[in-house]
Amino acid sequence: MNRLLFSIFCVLSGFIAKAQQNDSVMIRRIANEIFVNGKAYGNLHTLTKTVGGRMNGSPQTYKAEAWAQKALQDAGAEKVWLQQCTIPHWVRGGKEVVKMITGKKETPLNVLALGNSVGTGTKGITAPVILVNSFDELEQRKNEVKGKIVFYNYKFNSTFVHTFYSYVDAVRYRGAGASRAAKYGAVAVLVRSMTHSTDNNPHTGAMGYNDSFPKIPALAVGLWDADKLAAAISQDKKVQLYVKTNAHTLPDTIGYNVIGEIKGSEFPDQYITVGGHLDSWDPAEGAHDDGTGCVHAIEVLRVFKALHYQPKHSLRVVLFTDEENRGSGATKYAQEAKEKKETHIFAMESDAGGFTPRGFSFSMAPEKLEKIRAWIPLLQEYGVFEFQQGFGGADTEPLNNEFGTPVAELLPDSQRYFDYHHSSNDVFENVNKRELELGAINMTALIYLVDQYGL
Ligand SMILES: [Zn+2]
Repeated sequence: MNRLLFSIFCVLSGFIAKAQQNDSVMIRRIANEIFVNGKAYGNLHTLTKTVGGRMNGSPQTYKAEAWAQKALQDAGAEKVWLQQCTIPHWVRGGKEVVKMITGKKETPLNVLALGNSVGTGTKGITAPVILVNSFDELEQRKNEVKGKIVFYNYKFNSTFVHTFYSYVDAVRYRGAGASRAAKYGAVAVLVRSMTHSTDNNPHTGAMGYNDSFPKIPALAVGLWDADKLAAAISQDKKVQLYVKTNAHTLPDTIGYNVIGEIKGSEFPDQYITVGGHLDSWDPAEGAHDDGTGCVHAIEVLRVFKALHYQPKHSLRVVLFTDEENRGSGATKYAQEAKEKKETHIFAMESDAGGFTPRGFSFSMAPEKLEKIRAWIPLLQEYGVFEFQQGFGGADTEPLNNEFGTPVAELLPDSQRYFDYHHSSNDVFENVNKRELELGAINMTALIYLVDQYGL
């Protein structure tokens, strides 16, 4: 290297070192603000305890939208507005009942109807049950299915370290199990809950019907009762089930994305979006799924205002409607962005729980991701040590599909998430304040870095 090049190299390295030092100071300020004056935990308390579960079309949907507007205003959003969406409206219609009938004995099982499923009518259905461990077994035994209730006893795979892989592996039984059984004449299905929790709470979630086959009721059963039913079937081939659910679907209704914004100082027409989803299932309060994501996103905006950091790009917090069912909030947000010819440079969401952060999952060009891995040392102190290529999040992916916007999702430790997910355990008390705050710190820090340096 000649002397001139060497001098340029030294000056540039100096700049880079200086920038990193400034960034590390800024990220420390972000962390201190959240640890000392953080509002995420308090916001989550209000959302979960005064609004509660927020199923599409429920009165809580509209209470949550009002809460979100106020929370964004209080956080310092310069503009807050609602974006109207058409959302599905499924109702549980009261407590569902499933009883295992062996001889003259009736044993109630802990169950929840699946989202979008149909009911049985007021009398319910009594039919013999057939246990299958997989779709392969269903196909092998398809001639035995007619007139029966199919019990999918597919177990959550415990060998995956990252539990979302177990979920993706098992959730097809919840999503498609009813129609696959109805194809062979089944009258209802019962699905082992998607969890490896040690309790007996059933876990609900969305399912869908294939219009080519009759729509039959579908319910999830808690793990203890799934094992109890499996044991009974192994001893007595004549086990029957009584099933009664009042679940039904009403016409589509209106829901809103709630959006808060601060204008960028240099590139006001270029947007960075950060979000979570406002809707939840109904057995509990939607704390980890996805109250924590909503309060994380609000906290990013609040911290920028509190630290008097005016971002170069416009920052939008979007609390999406209807993630759990049809994703209509996310679709609408990307659609309107396209109509308005907006420029979206980055979007991030938090929808994997309020647990200790470990990393971020990105959907973006590999060479860009490689470049920003240089930021990891800045976040390591706060728990993030991994930027992986992968899924960028259900609510941000439409921006990626529409514009190629790089998108990311916070990756917290996943070990406890499916203990709570879509069950009666998903309550405020199961969220740890410090872990929640660490998520907000890393999200704010990453958005700060993207705002400073782009992608
Ligand atoms: Zn969610």
